[in-house]
Amino acid sequence: MLNLILFGPPGSGKGTQAEKLIEKYGLQHLSTGDILRNEIKEQTALGMEAKKFMDQGLLVPDEVVIGMISSKIDATVNSVKGYIFDGFPRTIPQAEALDKLMELKQIPVGNVLSLLVGEEELVKRLLGRGATSGRTDDQDENIIRNRVVEYRNKTAPVADYYRAQGKLSEIVGEGSIDDIFNKLCAAVG
Ligand code: AMP
Repeated sequence: MLNLILFGPPGSGKGTQAEKLIEKYGLQHLSTGDILRNEIKEQTALGMEAKKFMDQGLLVPDEVVIGMISSKIDATVNSVKGYIFDGFPRTIPQAEALDKLMELKQIPVGNVLSLLVGEEELVKRLLGRGATSGRTDDQDENIIRNRVVEYRNKTAPVADYYRAQGKLSEIVGEGSIDDIFNKLCAAVG
């Protein structure tokens, strides 16, 4: 089973590259951002709780996203070739919880592909996306900057967690989409 984690700050191209990797490797997409936006659309209690954090550019509490991922894995594990985690894990407790979950199910966590993009480029890309995506968290520069700060403080240390396990591949996420994709595929091996 091939399991990939696509890692990087908001606006680093995780969603774009996830689509291409899914097509190539036939993986099941698990994007916590997409799952949360769907919960909001359905107006579930979980969605309404998460929205309070997302509207400010803050991370949703760990127990909420860990529970969500755990039930998605339970529901799909017998019917998929592998997973691509997109936007998860975003904190050290989430990474530890994922390791435990995968160990329990005897599924290996494979490569962690980390996309590196400079901060000003991220803000520019997100504001550009906000003009067409309809995502309110992409339309306000203050919310975008909060998301980048959350990334720096809580998510960036997750790269070190996986580096220590020898699983981290760092890929420059600026340049053409196809060039970046080719570098990601080379890292998958
Ligand atoms: P994304 O679509 O990945 O950019 O996520 C949008 C928002 O959803 C983030 O700014 C967070 O508020 C929330 N979110 C998504 N994934 C996570 C996660 N793994 N942990 C905490 N919050 C998350």
